[in-house]
Amino acid sequence: MHKLKNSWRKAVSLGLSLAMACTLLFSAALPAGADDKLDELLEHKNQLQDQLNQINQKIQDNEAGLADAEAQRDLLEQQGEILRQQIELIGTQISDVNTQIANKQQEIDQKQQDIDDKQAQIDQRWSDFKLRMKAMQRLNDGGSIALLSSITNLYELLSFPKTLEDIYNKDEEVLAEMDGEYDELNNQKQQLENDRTELEASLATLNDLGSQLDGKQNELNANLEQTNAQIDQAEAMQETLTAEQQQVQQAFNEAADAYDAYLQQSLKEYDNQAQIHCSLNFINPLNSYKYISCYFGDGGHGGTDFAAPGGTEIHAMADGVVTNATYHWSYGYYVMITHGRADDGNTYATLYAHMNSAPVVSVGQTVTQGQLLGYVGTTGNSTGNHLHLEMRVNGVRSNVLNYISYHK
Ligand SMILES: [Zn+2]
Repeated sequence: MHKLKNSWRKAVSLGLSLAMACTLLFSAALPAGADDKLDELLEHKNQLQDQLNQINQKIQDNEAGLADAEAQRDLLEQQGEILRQQIELIGTQISDVNTQIANKQQEIDQKQQDIDDKQAQIDQRWSDFKLRMKAMQRLNDGGSIALLSSITNLYELLSFPKTLEDIYNKDEEVLAEMDGEYDELNNQKQQLENDRTELEASLATLNDLGSQLDGKQNELNANLEQTNAQIDQAEAMQETLTAEQQQVQQAFNEAADAYDAYLQQSLKEYDNQAQIHCSLNFINPLNSYKYISCYFGDGGHGGTDFAAPGGTEIHAMADGVVTNATYHWSYGYYVMITHGRADDGNTYATLYAHMNSAPVVSVGQTVTQGQLLGYVGTTGNSTGNHLHLEMRVNGVRSNVLNYISYHK
């Protein structure tokens, strides 16, 4: 296997002098003014990013408020539906009770008619009775010629007083019976009136309940109106915020494009101009480590893992420009450096992943070999403190161990 690191070891003195040349070339590629311009573009982009974040937060809050109001509206509408059903039921019950009261009243009126009839019968009977009593009295007092003359035979004459007594007794019996019937009718009427009073009490209760439900419905309608107003307001706010968001998003996109374009231009100039005469003179980014915990290509592994204590310094393997210094769900905090085009015609880039915290270098920054980039950690998709190190040759992941000294 061709181990390139052996070749640079044989030319250490040459490499040292050329490393200085590399630094000079970097300075030429990215002058101080260029960094200022890049910083300015980055700051502008970050300001817009902040604005965008704020608007997005507002939109989120507003959406949450809208969702709450809509849930509240649904709840009120459900309650409203239940209330409507209850009010309808009460209305039916009130109508029923009113019918019952009207029926009861008819019965009472009928009963009163019966009572009046009975009273008329009693009055009539009394009147007849009184006439007969007068006649009998006159007979007992010595008789009236008119009455006697109407008796045509002796038997009738003899039996007449007896007949009168029978009639008297019968009258008394019938009147007593009628009085009993009259009392019974009055009792029945009293019972009907009691029933009606009870029904009227029920009606009053139902009317009360109906009023309460009406009150509740009014209250609910007021709440619903208020909630709908909130929804309208939130929707209007949503439109305003969305318009604002689009505007800021566009400004941000433009700023990001301007920044990226400028960065790419800088990197391209660097790639074209920089010649790493100290070609492939890479150093191990760790001064010390425990062991290699996973090799390149093992199970499709795109890098080499060096187990090392958390906080171990990570250094740039060669001079270059930082192209990535951020957080990634898998790499965690990581840095990527492009080292430009070497005199073998290939471009080289290195990547350092799972740093314990944000890198100490930033995108666009030129770094020199050995410069501190960050510290070993276990952020992102990682199960323990280690450095995941990648080497990219012409953008293709390659085995970094072909370029640095190491122990297993
Ligand atoms: Zn790894």
